[in-house]
Amino acid sequence: MKKSTAAVWSGEGDLNTKGAATSPIVNSVAFSYKDLEAWHQVSLGKTDGFIYSRNTNPTVAVLEEKIRVLEGAEDATSFSTGMAAISNTLFTFLTTGKRVVSLKDTYGGTSKIFLDFLPKYGVDVKLCDTTDHGQLETEIAKGCDLLYLETPTNPTLKVVDIKRLADAAKKVGAVVVVDNTFATPINQNPLQSGADLVIHSATKFLCGHSDAMGGLLAGRKELVRKVYHFREINGASLQADPAYMIARGMKTLELRIERQNASAMTIARYLKTHSKVKDVFYPGLESHIGHDIAKRQMSGFGGMMSFALDGSYELVKKFLTSLQWVHLAASLGSVSTLAGPPRTTSHVELTEQQRAMLGIPESLIRYSVGIENVEDLLEDIEQALGKL
Ligand SMILES: *Cc1c(COP(=O)(O)O)cnc(C)c1O
Repeated sequence: MKKSTAAVWSGEGDLNTKGAATSPIVNSVAFSYKDLEAWHQVSLGKTDGFIYSRNTNPTVAVLEEKIRVLEGAEDATSFSTGMAAISNTLFTFLTTGKRVVSLKDTYGGTSKIFLDFLPKYGVDVKLCDTTDHGQLETEIAKGCDLLYLETPTNPTLKVVDIKRLADAAKKVGAVVVVDNTFATPINQNPLQSGADLVIHSATKFLCGHSDAMGGLLAGRKELVRKVYHFREINGASLQADPAYMIARGMKTLELRIERQNASAMTIARYLKTHSKVKDVFYPGLESHIGHDIAKRQMSGFGGMMSFALDGSYELVKKFLTSLQWVHLAASLGSVSTLAGPPRTTSHVELTEQQRAMLGIPESLIRYSVGIENVEDLLEDIEQALGKL
C-alpha cells in the first residue's frame, strides 16, 4: 500500500456501519459493556476496546492508525495540540538529572520548554547551533538521554542530518525524537533515518485547512505507550471532532503536498532572481546550505520557505499588505497561502541581536505556500514586489 492509498484507507472500516463510506464521529465520552468480564479485560489492556475518551476513542483511533501507517511506525497516539504532543513526550522521558540535547532553532513553544520549564525540574538542557553537526555529536557523546530534532526548521529552513545524529545518539542509548511537522510524512520519514519517535503538529499540513488542532506521536511501541500513559492521566487528549477533521484532511495530504512542493520550488526560483529579494531560504534550492542533506533524507522539499527583502522592516510591511492571495496570519500548512514576518510573530520575544545570531534577518518573510494556482501566486508576489 503506497502512501496515498494508506492515507485514504488505513484506520477505516471497523466503524463504517450500514455501509457508510466514511468513519463516523463518535462523540461518546464512555463506552458501555453488557459483560463485566469483557469490560475488565479491556480496562486491564488485555483486549482491545474503548473505555473512556480521555484514553482513546474510536474516531481518534482512526486518525492514530493513519499516522502510524504513513510514518511506518509500530504504534501511534494523539494529543489535543502539537505542543501537547511535544510537552508530554519531553516530560515522559526527562526527569530530574537527565540530559537533553537539542537545537537552538526549534519551534518557539518547544524552545520555551527547553529554556524555561525543564531546567526548573533539574533537567540539563544543551541547545546546539542547528547546523553544527560536529558540536551536536560532541554534546551527544558527553551523555544524552534524549536527542530532540526538528528539520527543516522555522523560519530559515535549516536542515539537520537525522541519520548522522541518530547514529551518535544510539551509541549513548538516547531516545531520538524528531518534529516532522514541516516536512510531513509524504516528504520525510524520520523513523527510517533512525529516529525512535516522530511528532507532528497535526494542526498544520496534516489537517491542512486551518480548522482543527491536534498533535500526533508515532514510533517504537514501548516508547509510544509510555507517552500515552502520561497523556491519558495528564489529560491533553484529542477529541473526536478535530480527530475527524484531521483524518479527513489527511486523505488529500499527498495531493496537497505534491502541489505545494512544486509551487514552492517555482516561487523560490523566481524570488532568487528578483532584485528586491536579498536571500531565499528553501531546501530545494542548490544554494541552500542544507540542500545536500535534504536531497538525501527528503523525497520532496515542502511547502515552507522564507525570504529576506533587500531593505528594512518598513519594506516588509509594504510588501505583505500589498499581497492579495495570502492570509497574514500565524500557522502554516493550509490550503490557503499564509505569510508573516518572524520579527513580529514567531520570534517577537527575541532581541534583534538574538535574531541575528539565529540567522533571522529583520526583513525576513515566512511564506507557507497554499494550493492556489502557482501562476496567480507568482503574479501576486510580482505586483507586490513591484510596489517597493
Ligand atoms: C505549530 C508547530 C508546533 C506546535 O503545534 P500546535 O498544534 O500549534 O500546538 C510544533 N512544531 C512545529 C514545527 C510547528 O510548526
